[in-house]
Amino acid sequence: MNNNELWQAVLSELELTISKANFITWFKNTGIVSIQDGYVILCVPNTFARAWLEKKYHQIIILSLERITEKPIKKLEYKINNIKNLTTQEEEENNTLEFPQNQTNDFSVRTNGASSNGFTLNQKYTFESFVVGKGAELAFAAAQAVASRPGEAYNPLFIYGGVGLGKTHLLQAIGNEMRKKNPQIDIIYVNAEKFCNDFIQSVKEKTTKEFQNRYRQTDLLLIDDIQFIAGKGETQESFFHTFNELHQQNKQVILTSDRPPKAIPALEDRLKSRFEWGMIADITMPDFETRVAILEKKCNEKHFELPTKILQTIAASIQSNIRELEGFLNKIIVYHQLKNITPSVESVKSLLSSVETTSMRQSLTSKQLIDAVGQYYNISNENLLSQSREKKISYPRQIIMFLMREELKMSYPSIGDELGGRDHTTAMHAYEKINKEVENNLKLKQEIESIKQRLYINNI
Ligand code: ADP
Ligand code: MG
Repeated sequence: MNNNELWQAVLSELELTISKANFITWFKNTGIVSIQDGYVILCVPNTFARAWLEKKYHQIIILSLERITEKPIKKLEYKINNIKNLTTQEEEENNTLEFPQNQTNDFSVRTNGASSNGFTLNQKYTFESFVVGKGAELAFAAAQAVASRPGEAYNPLFIYGGVGLGKTHLLQAIGNEMRKKNPQIDIIYVNAEKFCNDFIQSVKEKTTKEFQNRYRQTDLLLIDDIQFIAGKGETQESFFHTFNELHQQNKQVILTSDRPPKAIPALEDRLKSRFEWGMIADITMPDFETRVAILEKKCNEKHFELPTKILQTIAASIQSNIRELEGFLNKIIVYHQLKNITPSVESVKSLLSSVETTSMRQSLTSKQLIDAVGQYYNISNENLLSQSREKKISYPRQIIMFLMREELKMSYPSIGDELGGRDHTTAMHAYEKINKEVENNLKLKQEIESIKQRLYINNI
């Protein structure tokens, strides 16, 4: 393992225990300069980062280094230098420090081959750290029931809801709770993407037997964002058998998704019906009081105090989802600590307005927009840009045109260009049609809302 690989491994571990905003703020452009006989020198980009890492993360960096190298670390020092200056010319090609950006999940991907153990559960996602508002009462109760009587209460438990509303948190809380009760329990926690990748890899490497054994002999299977399995023929087939096998053995299966089973396009009917066997619970956006309570809890966790008035100001203006709420809280903390000023309603408000207007929108590209809509409706980019007038393709295409106009403020001719050289009148027509429809069609409104959430979630 070279220094770069070692640091990547450390980052993957740290990422699990630190909020995304803090992680990105403090660990970007860091790296290992040298490690020898238990003496480690890290490079950091500036004095802020050095002070912060030293103060807040010194110990966990050491612990992580020790765990991965399996050797004691005697001393850890920080040196201000950009990682880019460290790599010599010939190293540069294959030694770029990969920093996980645009990752919507709070966990790192560990690919240990086809029969891997999945992702590590994040210890901070527990029932205790989850604030139960009205929008999540049922899901929370069902999650607790399943954790106390796995395989008996509801099997499977299917939790669905929009981005950043706590699905992954609840899913992992079930795993953490069950492990607390029984440390020997075998748990697999993955997202559907990883399940698919593991499956494909096992086919390539001719290790499908191991793949099946691994997934079909676990005590508890937690699959996040199961909607990604839709449209993937053989993987769905394999998952179908995995599910049946576990279900027969009364092993608990818990799934999350951004939509109810019925509304997942290209999901096999037999899977849809299996998913409806147990309990389906949704999570919706918490109300104002719950959002304030969540902010309070997060402040406690981060040992940062903010007066209720400020918490209320934040809760009132961020209504989209909890991840954004938390992301913004992190921003406030970092901002005021760096400037060394006490947060006030005014300073928070001015930060809020800058977040709302500029940073989120500027970084969005039309390609990301096409990708997001395509993924949401499960239509390939090729089809979206084709001449097809089939409704299932033309409708998402119109939504793209609408969003390009609304969100990116693009001109009609350039919207037409981006969508496979269409005429500007087509773009105009699409915008007007969707704009009108969105007012009266609640389903469409929600769909567009959840696409927007996906688009902006990475930019907070
Ligand atoms: P999802 O999987 O639905 O996209 P996550 O579970 O990743 O959302 O939640 C995003 C962030 O918001 C996490 O840090 C999570 O801890 C936090 N969060 C969401 N809902 C709650 C809640 N009710 N109480 C406390 N934290 C929450
Ligand atoms: Mg999630």
